[in-house]
Amino acid sequence: MAQAEVRDLHWRAEDPFAGVNQRALAYGLGRSYGDSCLNDGGLLLSTRGLDRFVAFDPATGVLRCEAGVSLAEIIDLTLPQGWFPRVVPGTKHVTVGGAIANDIHGKNHHRAGTFGAHVRALELCRSDGSRRVCSREDSPELFAATVGGLGLTGVVTWAELQLRKVAGPYIAAETVEVPDLDHFFQVSAESDARFEYTVAWVDVLARGRHIGRGLFYRGNHAETPARPGEAGRGRLSVPFDLPSATLNRLTVSAFNFAYYRKNRRQRGEREQHLDGFFFPLDGVGRWNRIYGKRGLLQFQCAVPTAAAPEVIRELLGRIAAAGQGSFLAVLKTFGEVPSPGLLSFPRKGVTLALDFANRGPKTLELVRQLYAVARQGGGAFYPAKDAVMSPEDFAASYPRLAEFERHLDPACSSGFWRRVREGHPYQPSLPLGPPAAGGKGVTP
Ligand SMILES: Cc1cc2nc3c(=O)[nH]c(=O)nc-3n(C[C@H](O)[C@H](O)[C@H](O)COP(=O)(O)OP(=O)(O)OC[C@H]3O[C@@H](n4cnc5c(N)ncnc54)[C@H](O)[C@@H]3O)c2cc1C
Repeated sequence: MAQAEVRDLHWRAEDPFAGVNQRALAYGLGRSYGDSCLNDGGLLLSTRGLDRFVAFDPATGVLRCEAGVSLAEIIDLTLPQGWFPRVVPGTKHVTVGGAIANDIHGKNHHRAGTFGAHVRALELCRSDGSRRVCSREDSPELFAATVGGLGLTGVVTWAELQLRKVAGPYIAAETVEVPDLDHFFQVSAESDARFEYTVAWVDVLARGRHIGRGLFYRGNHAETPARPGEAGRGRLSVPFDLPSATLNRLTVSAFNFAYYRKNRRQRGEREQHLDGFFFPLDGVGRWNRIYGKRGLLQFQCAVPTAAAPEVIRELLGRIAAAGQGSFLAVLKTFGEVPSPGLLSFPRKGVTLALDFANRGPKTLELVRQLYAVARQGGGAFYPAKDAVMSPEDFAASYPRLAEFERHLDPACSSGFWRRVREGHPYQPSLPLGPPAAGGKGVTP
């Protein structure tokens, strides 16, 4: 496999495309799974050197920063001043540019919509040497193409974000046991009305009437201010790649059972530091090593509300029957807040996200079956969590594709884009899964 060349960007005033004569792609912290942030045989424009805060108003919570600043860095700066990003994903080690380009979602999608909904403006550099400040008012078409635009409209150099007010770093959290899928839908409907954050962990190996068994997590920002000297949780680390052979039906089943038993004991209400509530995996350094050298495959679909009960049941049934369980299966309802991006993934319905240890052809076969089932039910798929989507799946997921393509920067491309638009086949040698948390460099 041809690696990508890397150019480090340092100054927002510099032209990222100066002298570039090959396909280029902006690169943040590489927390996307699969090839949407890779560009084999081309150039990666690494944005982590664009790591400056430009302006922050603690009266309004408006922050302007360079695109390589991470959410972790934003939280470090603004939380002590009573402000928090409006939308965060399951890791805080993502850049602002990466969060915009995937128009990421969090546990509060039903209230806040996507990350892009809280971007007030951004600056975009194109390979023709132009640079445009885009917002809902200025160059709105380019703004809509760039939010969720997978880095294919140019390089974002800075963005202005609206943060939300919080009293401190705690979440008034609650864990509810969910015995099956019907209960998930009930608890979810009831919780979305009362809680800003909702998400469920599902035991994917549960079968028959237990399908959908899991734990439902919900919470609101607590009114408690920070207690001096108390930080988030400490870090554990997986010290080496586990042999893939250790991951089988028995070990995954044992893990899921133990996780369910342990966390069910924590049913009820408690105040939790937001690090543990939002970013549990960040507390386990190099967690992806648990999947061994062959890495993992992620799958995330969003299924329209009406079809969701049947489709999600079928997906979970197939996974349980295949015995290729996943440690981290997450179910959540997406709400109605419209996404600003032409290629934004979230849409009203139910989303299921899973990871599978990559065991070669049989894992691929299972994942392809899941794509077929979800697509039949009108499902859409998330490029940030994908290594196998077909051109047909992509086109079916994104009805505004033609509109988006009018804004493509001709110098930009990615492994994902060539796969879903030019039909380049899936390459099993891709490094699957994201790199270790907290890393600064490019590790494609
Ligand atoms: C543990 C974990 C949990 C996650 N949980 C969630 C979740 O809950 N919700 C969710 O939506 N996602 C989730 N993700 C995925 C992650 O949020 C996204 O993939 C995010 O976009 C990664 O940001 P990054 O900075 O690492 O970008 P990269 O992965 O490096 O790049 C992502 C995309 O952004 C583009 N890009 C990066 N910087 C720029 C720039 N300056 N200008 C233009 N384009 C740019 C790249 O070209 C690429 O297309 C999770 C990932 C992990 C590892």
